[in-house]
Amino acid sequence: MRLSRAFLPTLKETPAEAQIVSHRLMLRAGLVRQTSAGIYAWLPMGWRTLQRVGQIVREEQDRAGAQEILMPTIQSAELWRQSGRYDAYGPEMLRLKDRHEREMLFGPTNEEMVTDIFRSFAKSYRDLPRNLYHIQWKFRDEVRPRFGVMRGREFLMKDAYSFDLTKEGAEHSYRQMLWAYLRTFQRMGLRALPMRADTGPIGGNLSHEFIILAETGESAVFYDADFEQIDWLGADFAPDSVQDMQRCYDLATATYAATDEMHDEAAWARVPEARRRQGRGIEVGHIFYFGTKYSAPMGLSVQGPDGQQVQPEMGSYGIGVSRLVGAIIEANHDEAGIKWPDAVAPFRAAVINLKQGDAACDALCDKIYRALGDDALYDDRAERAGVKFADADLMGHPWQVIVGPRGAAAGMVELKRRMTGERHEVSPEDALGKIRG
Ligand code: ATP
Ligand code: MG
Repeated sequence: MRLSRAFLPTLKETPAEAQIVSHRLMLRAGLVRQTSAGIYAWLPMGWRTLQRVGQIVREEQDRAGAQEILMPTIQSAELWRQSGRYDAYGPEMLRLKDRHEREMLFGPTNEEMVTDIFRSFAKSYRDLPRNLYHIQWKFRDEVRPRFGVMRGREFLMKDAYSFDLTKEGAEHSYRQMLWAYLRTFQRMGLRALPMRADTGPIGGNLSHEFIILAETGESAVFYDADFEQIDWLGADFAPDSVQDMQRCYDLATATYAATDEMHDEAAWARVPEARRRQGRGIEVGHIFYFGTKYSAPMGLSVQGPDGQQVQPEMGSYGIGVSRLVGAIIEANHDEAGIKWPDAVAPFRAAVINLKQGDAACDALCDKIYRALGDDALYDDRAERAGVKFADADLMGHPWQVIVGPRGAAAGMVELKRRMTGERHEVSPEDALGKIRG
């Protein structure tokens, strides 16, 4: 993308309404635009990032054996009456009526709908286990939408739903998702700690929240520093081994981490003092095992191997895809702007032309830009160098290729790594090699 033609409305001033750094940076770097309280339009830079985050989530769900579907945002109130949650859900649910006065709602989550879809097809134990997920907009009429996309009213969530014949099967599905989550967040450059959680309005028996550390987080957390060392993507854990999955689950759940609500002083005292850490965190995912909480009232049952009808054991598994964009910025920024981890960056590199109109600079920039294609944002504007540097730092591209007249004449460029601030003079070929990884 050429910056001179891009729709990237960056702001010089810090927006007054934004209380936390990720919200300020998302507005300043032109990622989103608020259209009503807690509702955001995603502009090109933000939308590219949101898609990258969603794609990592998708790949790890697929790897764990979940299958992607797409359910609608609008649901019928009737389904929610069957589970008993229509009245229970309260004012966070956006309720609507169609022209025939039928009661509808904008889905805050999809347990009822997926149970309805599944019950119309699943007849026998051979139809189990299955795990279905989608990445879809949700609406929750939060009392206090704030912190930009981190607590919006309309937000993008990945929600998966597992159906198993037995409790043991359901626990296996749960462990598989927990592992998939650890991999997902680490791929985004985040450290997410799984913590035992209350099951809340979803209900059920077993639940973990995934919390990433950030000073501005809404929850206080206590954790064992060992969590900072474990490499969930490392050679110790083969991604398709059931034993490794079990080991990973055991390690993740045995290492102490808890929010203040669930903090257990006795267990904390057993963590060696030098390893005790306290901080604040942001919830980026939440998983639940809730047995037959929906299958029973909604009449989902299949014929078991012995001919008896069995109600499937279910779980649900959420990731806040749009919240993650804010959370990643909370965890990766400095005074100058965003520092995108490679895996989620909207563009891998900015190509910065320091002297637009200089034949050597223009030719070299064009060459690099053409080689990088869609991975690059080419700053070809007739702006001062200082403005270009500031914008590139603000937008946070992992690499900056800086092309000035002296370097261009010698066939050299400067390559800057945004995460560390390191700069090196290199040949264009070396720069391309590094950027492509
Ligand atoms: P919270 O405790 O933050 O209100 P929740 O427990 O109500 O979230 P879940 O029902 O567990 O949320 O939803 C799954 C995930 O969706 C959460 O872990 C979070 O990442 C994301 N999420 C929930 N509410 C919002 C929101 N208002 N804005 C953005 N993301 C959200
Ligand atoms: Mg939650």
